[in-house]
Amino acid sequence: MMGRTHFAFGLALIGAGADFGAYDLTPGLVAAAAFGSLLPDIDHPGSVIGRSLFFVSWPLATVVRHRGPIHSFAAAGGFALLLLAGIVAVCGGWPPPGTGGILAAMVLGYLSHLFLDAWNPAGVPLLYPRRKRFRFPWNVKPECVLESLFSFALSGIALIALTLPLVRGFHP
Ligand SMILES: [Zn+2]
Repeated sequence: MMGRTHFAFGLALIGAGADFGAYDLTPGLVAAAAFGSLLPDIDHPGSVIGRSLFFVSWPLATVVRHRGPIHSFAAAGGFALLLLAGIVAVCGGWPPPGTGGILAAMVLGYLSHLFLDAWNPAGVPLLYPRRKRFRFPWNVKPECVLESLFSFALSGIALIALTLPLVRGFHP
C-alpha cells in the first residue's frame, strides 16, 4: 500500500476512537498514530518514512527485506519499547502522564499498517519469527486504481473523524 493510504487509515482510526468517546483527541495522539502508521516501511529506503529516516532505513534494509520481520507484531512491540525508552531518556526518569496513550496510539497506527499490508498479494509475517505470511483472500495490487480510490475515500473519512470532536465541541 502507498504511504498516504497508511497515513489516512491511521488518522481515521485515531479520530474514530475519539469520535466514539474512547479518549480526548490530542495532537500527541494524532502524531503518534500517524508515525506508527508509516513506521513499518522503515525497512524500505524508498518509502516516505524510509526517506525521512534514511540513516535507519539504509542499514536496516541490508539486513531485513521489505515486508519481512519489521511487518510483525513482535516489531510493533519492539518499537513501542524503543519509543518508551526514548521518552524516559528525554524526560530523565519516569515517563510523564499520557505516555501510555502515546504508545497505544503508535501501536494502533503500526497495527493498522500491518492490516492494510495483509491485502497485498505477498502478505505479511505477522507472527515472525514464524515464517507464515498472512494475507486476505482478496488482494489489492499496490498503487493500482482501486488503491487510489480507497486512499481517497480514507482521506475523506480521516478528515471527518479528526474534525468531528472539534465540531462537537463548538457551541456558537
Ligand atoms: Zn508496509
